[in-house]
Amino acid sequence: MSPSHHWYGIVPGWLPYYALIAVALVLFARRAIYLVRLLGIGKPAVRWDHMPARIRAVLVFVLAQFRLLAGDFWPGLMHATIFWGFMVLSLGTIEFFGRGVTEAFSLPLLSDTPGYLILQDVFSLAVIAALAYATFRRLVTRPKRLTLSPEGLLILGLIFGLMVTDLLADAARMALHPASHDPWAFAGHALAGLLAGLPAGALMVAFHAAWWLHAAILLGFLVWLPYSKHLHVLAAPLNVFFAPLTPKGKFSTPDLETAETFGAGALSDLTWKDLFDLYNCTECGRCTSRCPANMSGKELDPKLLILNLQDFLLEGAGAPHVSGAHEGQPMVGGVIKDNVLWACTTCRWCVEACPVFIEHVPKIVDMRRWLVLTESRFPQELAPTFRNLENNGSPFQMAWQTRADWAADLGVRTMTDVGEAEYLYWVGCYGSFDERNRKVARAFVKLLQAAGVDFAILGSEEKCSGEPARRLGHEYLYQTLAQGNVETLKQYKFQKIVTACPHCFNTIKNEYPDFGGRFQVIHHSELLDELVRSGRLRPGRESARRVTYHDACNLGRYNDIYDAPRSVLASIGRTELAEMELSRQRGFCCGGGGGRAWMEETEGRRVNQVRVEQAMAVNPEVLASACPFCLTMFEDGVKAKDVGDKMKTRDIAELLAESLDNK
Ligand code: SF4
Ligand code: SF4
Repeated sequence: MSPSHHWYGIVPGWLPYYALIAVALVLFARRAIYLVRLLGIGKPAVRWDHMPARIRAVLVFVLAQFRLLAGDFWPGLMHATIFWGFMVLSLGTIEFFGRGVTEAFSLPLLSDTPGYLILQDVFSLAVIAALAYATFRRLVTRPKRLTLSPEGLLILGLIFGLMVTDLLADAARMALHPASHDPWAFAGHALAGLLAGLPAGALMVAFHAAWWLHAAILLGFLVWLPYSKHLHVLAAPLNVFFAPLTPKGKFSTPDLETAETFGAGALSDLTWKDLFDLYNCTECGRCTSRCPANMSGKELDPKLLILNLQDFLLEGAGAPHVSGAHEGQPMVGGVIKDNVLWACTTCRWCVEACPVFIEHVPKIVDMRRWLVLTESRFPQELAPTFRNLENNGSPFQMAWQTRADWAADLGVRTMTDVGEAEYLYWVGCYGSFDERNRKVARAFVKLLQAAGVDFAILGSEEKCSGEPARRLGHEYLYQTLAQGNVETLKQYKFQKIVTACPHCFNTIKNEYPDFGGRFQVIHHSELLDELVRSGRLRPGRESARRVTYHDACNLGRYNDIYDAPRSVLASIGRTELAEMELSRQRGFCCGGGGGRAWMEETEGRRVNQVRVEQAMAVNPEVLASACPFCLTMFEDGVKAKDVGDKMKTRDIAELLAESLDNK
């Protein structure tokens, strides 16, 4: 608003004006203090270290709205426009309330300047356009991920009201008392032209009505904000600031010897940051939109998981959207059902998609920990998996002594034989015991040998990295395996660990440092890419073949490795790479992560079959992957869908090794 000073003479100093502001501020502060105190029931978590990185995150993800714009572009632009408008027009709001106190109030270097007046009107109109688009989406196109709620529409209406009253008050003032700078506020000025013929009394009434309505909406909004889902307006910048800066694939490592409870069975077992997350949900549904569990018909809905926990936290606290439906229920098994927790593949789509940086997966794993370690309650098929991990050091039933049998005829050396090697090839349980993945291990060894790489394996000294145990909530088992492996690895000299398993890769690289195991770890796709680029491996000319590549969640979303495997595939002559619609950062899980590879899948459709269908949609001859979990899931999926004659499943190492034969 760009008022002329004498126009405000009737407003300042009014007791009702001050009283209104005071009441709104007191009500807002009361609720805000309540919400902050509620966080006190959570466990501690340090989220104010690495200040420069945190400030950078706020600049990129809050001010520049990067994640929203990089996701669904048009809805993202709509939100960014409203947000940027909110920032610009907030200055006008300060001016607005300031001039209600004293006529002479002005923002230094801003008030009534041409640039600022233009910017204000540009954003007023842009916000109105964005609101129209938002309303159209909610009422007409109705994307599945959005919940149509009266609250959402009311908020859109209130913001619209703010824009219109602002322009109208400006226009009425200009029509009555024109000022030289008015034309710069082009929208208000044009509106003033339309009002010009009205009598002065009517213009006066219009100005006062618009002015007071604007003040009332603003103050009402302030009071309502902390009760509504638009609490995120205030909370989200802080949630981005407090976002974890640890590697994405690293879960918390509780001290099991001193812990009084294991995992999260109640709100007080979650951290204050987990609880703060719950204030942030905008109900946008981005997390659910590509959740493989939800898309394949499971009850798990990450948005609902957060909203149910939010409900549970705020129950009885008077928030209008709180149902009260969970009163008296336990958090795990009541508010969040067991099957919901077990359906998660820990693919991290939800976390990466969430514009306000809510961390769904750590909460799910914490609740699984409570189920397994405190309640001893888990799907029965996991009992043999846990038993095998405990007895054989792998999820499979085979004896640990046979771990290196796959390599018996390959001339592969063990670290016990050599004591030192450039690369320690970490084979993983699938490569060691699973028939299909043993072929991948053999292909990889062939490539290493062809390139003359100095490597050795741990042989029967290698145990499961513990990744499935941790994701399944069996933290005790995970920590035992991790500690054992770190001790073994520390006995030998090597420069890098290389593994074909993204699950082992992520765990050894990102989670073993908690046990003193700091190793340089690379994925086989990275090493193969390097060997091809340096000319140590020379792929042959394949007959032309259309290949689609599936990004493993532990490689892609967890560790940002997208290019190396594609580059390996591209190096194989005449390979045509066809991307699936859901690839790279938006990749769809194979269904085997989060320990799901060892669980029955009885609810809805099978995730691996959904992914195979997505692959079939681009008509490839080969569905390539770089993960033994994915390969296993696809082998099953292709068999179940009976499409093996049209599409083969291969690891990138197999394709590269085959091409060496075709020179
Ligand atoms: S991690 Fe994946 S499967 Fe689990 S809730 Fe998130 S999107 Fe769904
Ligand atoms: S958790 Fe995040 S992505 Fe999911 S609905 Fe809430 S704000 Fe949107």
